[in-house]
Amino acid sequence: MTLFEKIIAREIPAEIVYEDDLCLAFKDINPQAPVHVLLIPKKPIPRVGEAETEDQALLGHLLLKAGAVADLLGVKQIDKGFRLAINHGEHGGETVPHLHIHLLAGRPLAWPPG
Ligand code: 5GP
Repeated sequence: MTLFEKIIAREIPAEIVYEDDLCLAFKDINPQAPVHVLLIPKKPIPRVGEAETEDQALLGHLLLKAGAVADLLGVKQIDKGFRLAINHGEHGGETVPHLHIHLLAGRPLAWPPG
């Protein structure tokens, strides 16, 4: 069981900000911005590049819910805004092998990222 599956199962505590049948959003334990939430599918897809055609609707659901969670957290307005990031593999910075979308907001975010 991955760390994030344990969070889904409530075996490890997390500050959950949104949940539905397909996904869960919770605060990152080591926030890199005033708002830093991880949005994960309940299906344990290891990383984005390993999603399959059958996951198409789930991937779309995650993006739609990322916008909804940004709205819930008060950062969706265009004069605020947010960034979504998905890390795949070592060079991408992935450390947990369960697909997750980082939602970062609450301060201006530099571009390009480091
Ligand atoms: P990655 O580096 O794989 O893209 O992102 C993994 C994220 O999971 C990191 O930002 C890290 O801080 C977060 N994280 C790792 N362990 C835990 C945990 O036990 N609880 C929570 N809420 N976040 C975690």
